[in-house]
Amino acid sequence: MKRMFFSITTLLLLGVTVICAQDAKLQTGDPLKRGLKESDFPRTKQLASGVYSYEALRGGDPGSFMTTVSLFVVTTDGVLVADGQGNVQQTKEMVDAIAKITNQPIKYVVICSDHGDHTAGNSAFPKSAVFISSPASKKTMEDAAAQAAQRGGGRGNAAPPAPLPTETVPAKRVLKMGGTEIQILNLGRAHTGGDLEVYVPKGKVLFMSEAYLHRIFPAMRSAFPTEWLATIKKAQALKASWYVPGHGFVDDAKTLKDELETYRQALAKVIDESKRLRQAGVPCPVPPPAPAAQRGQNAPAPPKCEAAQKADWGAFKDWTLRGGQEEVAIRKVFDELDGKLPK
Ligand SMILES: [Zn+2]
Repeated sequence: MKRMFFSITTLLLLGVTVICAQDAKLQTGDPLKRGLKESDFPRTKQLASGVYSYEALRGGDPGSFMTTVSLFVVTTDGVLVADGQGNVQQTKEMVDAIAKITNQPIKYVVICSDHGDHTAGNSAFPKSAVFISSPASKKTMEDAAAQAAQRGGGRGNAAPPAPLPTETVPAKRVLKMGGTEIQILNLGRAHTGGDLEVYVPKGKVLFMSEAYLHRIFPAMRSAFPTEWLATIKKAQALKASWYVPGHGFVDDAKTLKDELETYRQALAKVIDESKRLRQAGVPCPVPPPAPAAQRGQNAPAPPKCEAAQKADWGAFKDWTLRGGQEEVAIRKVFDELDGKLPK
């Protein structure tokens, strides 16, 4: 009898544990690990009255199975979109998804991240939309467009060039659309160096774009590591209800707020660990570009980034894209220590 009591108690406990485990979402940037399928995306989620997130799987980039997040705000005087998607097809799908929710036209597109996975489809937005970015992103995009034109880009099957921003936000701009206030904020350099955020006070929703990569290993190709930390602190000081990332899942509001702090700690860890390795003299050389003739099986192996092999990322080692991003991050922190980043 006693034994039976134990078994029933054990079973009950097991049952409770299983239910709790199902309730707690696995924190990851990887849709497959979350048990999601390609057909679960794109998905639109209403965060507050008139404010929606839009998550699509990053297309055409095998090995980086993760979501790219845009935000849109529907008002009685048009729609504002923050960040596009990575190609014309995917951005058109988002434009169509918005049209299912409202008849209002897309009036503004805020380029919060100037990277291609958030801008390359921008020609799918209506011609009448006004494109807004930071001054730094405007310059980055103009330079890229000029280089592409020199190479003879835009011909053949190439996607139409993304429209360039015509208005810039050096610090803050407040838009009134219908009765809705929307703030475009420049909280400092972070992931691209031209980062913007969009804040909707009604509903307290802050779209952080790529300044917040939810469970994605800090991606630093064009980042400013230490300034990025300060930018996140400024965002946290706003005490928003919703912190929306540029990549990774749009979970519930509390999870996203907690995860922003986890992300800040990941960023701090990557910076501290890279500094430690630099001080210990562990190198991470940049592989030289291999001449075309040498590319192939007999090409000499590029020099190893010893620092990446010796790095201890602690709890962050299993984050999505770690393998592809760790060397980039280490070199960026080394560059910052050497004063090599643009002023
Ligand atoms: Zn991105």
